[in-house]
Amino acid sequence: MLKILLQGLGGFETELLNWLQQSLPSYIPPQIIFEVSEVNLPLSSSYYNTKRLQFNAYGILSSLSTMFKNTGFFRVLALTNEDIYVEGLNFVFGLAQKPLNPFDETSLTALVSTNRLTTGLADLKSRVFKTRLLKEAVHELGHTLTLDHCVKKCVMRFSNTIIETDLKPASFCIECLNKIRVYIENMMKIFHR
Ligand SMILES: [Zn+2]
Ligand SMILES: [Zn+2]
Repeated sequence: MLKILLQGLGGFETELLNWLQQSLPSYIPPQIIFEVSEVNLPLSSSYYNTKRLQFNAYGILSSLSTMFKNTGFFRVLALTNEDIYVEGLNFVFGLAQKPLNPFDETSLTALVSTNRLTTGLADLKSRVFKTRLLKEAVHELGHTLTLDHCVKKCVMRFSNTIIETDLKPASFCIECLNKIRVYIENMMKIFHR
């Protein structure tokens, strides 16, 4: 088994982490199991950009990847309610590290923000919100499993507006799914040799 840690940042709700733990396995190959971190990690103010009033997603991601480097987790998916950005974009729903090569054994990290996922919703805990969160989580994990963006009817479609998120499915297209199946089988051999 390959373990993915679901890590809350700041005041992220444990209830949502538990919900993701139950929901993600329907979309990710079965060799992967999800574990919820028992403690939330604080978000360092050093990644807060006081001009943009947003957190720097790269900064958060690189500090997490240093922190989780040799912890035995296959991947870490961090979740925050804060607004995050990368240079050149107004905001991002998430960000992820990609393996450098098919044999890269580093524990890679992904980050998803709920901040923009409540756009247009009266009920902030609605099914629509949760579906958006699930799609962004599967998408960023897809990047950590070697996938690039995809133009098919696929969760790996790029989205930078909430409409684009709502339009794409939560599942991988068959080509992307096949790629991650092959990748995960290779990783199983490397991690369990
Ligand atoms: Zn992407
Ligand atoms: Zn695809």
